Amino acid sequence: MKTYRIATIPGDGIGKEVVPAGRQALEALAARSDAFRFEFENFDWGGDYYRQHGVMMPADGLDALRDKDAILFGSAGDPHIPDHITLWGLRLKICQGFDQYANVRPTRILPGIDAPLKRCKPADLDWVIVRENSEGEYAGIGGRAHQGHPIEVATDVSIMTRAGVERVLRFAFRLAQSRPRKLLTVITKSNAQRHAMVMWDEIALQVSREFPDVKWDKELVDAATARMVNRPASLDTIVATNLHADILSDLAAALAGSLGIAPTANLDPERRYPSMFEPIHGSAFDIMGKGLANPVGTFWSVVMMLEHLGETGAAKLVMNAIEQVTANPSLHTGDLGGNATTAQVTDAVCQHIAAHARPALAA
Ligand code: NAD
Ligand code: MN
Repeated sequence: MKTYRIATIPGDGIGKEVVPAGRQALEALAARSDAFRFEFENFDWGGDYYRQHGVMMPADGLDALRDKDAILFGSAGDPHIPDHITLWGLRLKICQGFDQYANVRPTRILPGIDAPLKRCKPADLDWVIVRENSEGEYAGIGGRAHQGHPIEVATDVSIMTRAGVERVLRFAFRLAQSRPRKLLTVITKSNAQRHAMVMWDEIALQVSREFPDVKWDKELVDAATARMVNRPASLDTIVATNLHADILSDLAAALAGSLGIAPTANLDPERRYPSMFEPIHGSAFDIMGKGLANPVGTFWSVVMMLEHLGETGAAKLVMNAIEQVTANPSLHTGDLGGNATTAQVTDAVCQHIAAHARPALAA
């Protein structure tokens, strides 16, 4: 029997509701598996911790996570603490501390979801966005001077390293190669940003030569937003910088029906450190504490975690459970136009897992 050590970090807002839901699904799996079990450790880091200790997580927090097999994360963001403090003090500290340089964001229109594009059939939208997750516009380089004076100045300097660009592009080409269409779109902005993005394009061309079977093209980020809306079927795997992919992936999530469904994996592909899995949504201040959050984004993140752990049978089982739930409008939460609660959706997913575990987990 394999034991996976999982850290759970609910964080703030609806993170505190959806992470326990994700854990429930993992427990439902483990209860019916002879092959694996989970050992959970929960960390109460986030806004409440900040109010008590003045930091979002302890200085040696990464050491407590280092020996875990994976991290399930909720959201960082508190209505009473500036967003740059909550984000940099917790989520980015973990992503950057563990060099989780590949942020992977699959998007599909799940069964039963009424997506906003009227001409887009579910089969037309099946994307994976790869976001550079360790440098670029979010490298944290910059500063402010003359604060409070008329000549105040502020900079955020984007940093692109050849090694950093090469590794994420190679990851994206490899991922594209593993998908049926073997199709990659490299997002750029090398018309206006004439240094780093030009290097990005050059490296894309170099890396592409290692993948002769992958068809690839380049698209400027602004044009890419229009292409996502007008010609969704022309896209499959997409790779972009930290900022560009951050924005494109929220658009992708909305085009697939809701921010509440979309998952993400922050991967260290070399497996030197634990990888982290989380829904792409934030703390959702408007609905937090009410039991109304859609837990599907977290369940799909759990699917990605199981895939990363090599438990493909379990991953498929949870994905099937998700699709059963989305196909049933009476199990839609408010973001999907329904009135189901987090607990109802979670129970339905856990019941599906229990009912279908035998053949699925035995395989
Ligand atoms: P948000 O994702 O929290 O909410 C945007 C809208 O989508 C809200 O109306 C919300 O109710 C809805 N929504 C989001 N997830 C939902 C779900 N699972 N079920 C139902 N409805 C859902 O984005 P925001 O309002 O821009 O940010 C709020 C806070 O969260 C901010 O502090 C922000 O910094 C933080 N944030 C954190 C992360 C993260 O930790 N990864 C990501 C995004 C935002
Ligand atoms: Mn974002």
